[in-house]
Amino acid sequence: MSGGERLYPWLEAARERMIGLQRLLTSVPALAPENRGEGEARKAEALGAWLEEAGLGPVRNYPSSDPRVPGGERPNLMVRLPGPGGDVVPGHAGVGHAGPGNAGPVREAGPGHEAGPVREAGPVRETGVAHETGPGGDHASGAASRPAAGRSFWVMSHLDVVPPGDPAKWESDPYQLVERGGRLYGRGTEDNQQGMVSSIFALLALKEAGVIPPRDVKLLFVADEEVGSTHGIQALLRDHAGLFGKGDTFLVPDGGRPDGSMIEVAEKSLLWLRFTVQGRQVHASMPHLGVNAFLAGSDLVVRLGRGLPEAFPERDPIFEPPFSTFCPTKKEANVPNVNTIPGLDVFCLDSRILPSRPVDEVLGEIDRICRAVESDHGVRVSREILQRNSSVPTRGDCPLVLGLKKAVQKVYGVPAEVMGIGGGTVGAYLRNAGYDTAIWCTLDETAHMPNEYCVVNNMVNDAKVMLELMLAGV
Ligand SMILES: [Zn+2]
Repeated sequence: MSGGERLYPWLEAARERMIGLQRLLTSVPALAPENRGEGEARKAEALGAWLEEAGLGPVRNYPSSDPRVPGGERPNLMVRLPGPGGDVVPGHAGVGHAGPGNAGPVREAGPGHEAGPVREAGPVRETGVAHETGPGGDHASGAASRPAAGRSFWVMSHLDVVPPGDPAKWESDPYQLVERGGRLYGRGTEDNQQGMVSSIFALLALKEAGVIPPRDVKLLFVADEEVGSTHGIQALLRDHAGLFGKGDTFLVPDGGRPDGSMIEVAEKSLLWLRFTVQGRQVHASMPHLGVNAFLAGSDLVVRLGRGLPEAFPERDPIFEPPFSTFCPTKKEANVPNVNTIPGLDVFCLDSRILPSRPVDEVLGEIDRICRAVESDHGVRVSREILQRNSSVPTRGDCPLVLGLKKAVQKVYGVPAEVMGIGGGTVGAYLRNAGYDTAIWCTLDETAHMPNEYCVVNNMVNDAKVMLELMLAGV
């Protein structure tokens, strides 16, 4: 079967079940400890139980330890539908894995997780799941017998939500789903439960129809996306790298346009710097005895602001704006009074750099400018990297992106545009690890806002697009 049309009616008929799952997920807040929350464990437990009940088990958990939350763990759940060749997890013979022919429970323990007592996590605990050896035999022979199918197609969504914010701005309880006018209101309904539910029902449609996809299809439900992914995808890539195989591809349904026409494949590298300019503080009536750090810092700001765009003028039309940006932003206070020459000046620079230019080149140019200001003003300039994320782009003509364009055209009737964005998304972690990654879904962009909502039709139709991708073996 090449197309998924015959399963569209099943998805349409599943509309109420999809809404029911949204209702369940909305009712369990999953806030990071940074947002004074208890993490995602309760939501993961509810989701895990639902998935098992729906027949999508076994649900595996790859937790990241975090002593700040009750239970000490942030959950990362995975379910999958094997492709031809059986229940094989390529590249999965990693940590804590039972050996070939050794039937028994598989523990998904990473570094720092010693095999030990069964963790109390209800249906989502990572022990007690079936051994992952399929009819094809053990892992080694199974993997060897189907090299082409060794890759997996993943859909990754996140469990955590951001806080509701000012309750007065909500027309209803953020944690109680309200269905009105074809929309589902509630915190998390769009970000990221819409994508989560679409992916679950696309997989369920295949499973219930008995379809074996051309490649393994895996759904990942990660923690900690809103606060930097330390305990989410970053932890998985670091502690469970064997979970992923060469050639795996990812759809991240966590960004898009209301008509589904935007596929994000790249992002600018993000570089946040804090500059400290040190001069010598003196009375303003005797400036010649001091070194004015504010004056030197201002000169530095101007030289950076003008010099960097000149040094890095490349353009790439998939980005908006289509060039690297270098913006002086935060300025810290110096002296509190008018009659003192400041001896210290501190400011920040936000840079978004086209992926075609290495960040180190930019840092080299910045350092050159700093040295020039030092010698011209007699100050000392130091810089601190506050954040640095480089990103390898996913090619716009890779099978994943081409398949997605085709599916979007088929389901939504629109040509999808391949784009890059300003930087700092989870896509960078996956792309930098070598996996083609597309960020796409259909949404009104109400994430993080009061009265966040998901358009039910988008949720159902995005499931069709995901179904097409699962069938296409992208
Ligand atoms: Zn999100």
